[in-house]
Amino acid sequence: MTPATAARPLPTTHEMTGAQYAGRACVWCEAPLTQGRVLAGQASGQIGAHVVGTPAYQCLPDSGCQFLIEGDR
Ligand SMILES: [Zn+2]
Repeated sequence: MTPATAARPLPTTHEMTGAQYAGRACVWCEAPLTQGRVLAGQASGQIGAHVVGTPAYQCLPDSGCQFLIEGDR
């Protein structure tokens, strides 16, 4: 069951792959973002005692998985 929210919770930085962390892969489907990217939000995480945030990116609306988010409701 998926709650009808406007946006999915982003993974933490700890859960992101290196490519996702670097903004080279979609945060949802891990597709390489060679054609462009859209900011999905700010992923949060913790490195030692430091709380960090990094931008997370997703596929372009017409070429990737954003419909999964838009169609969530
Ligand atoms: Zn995607």
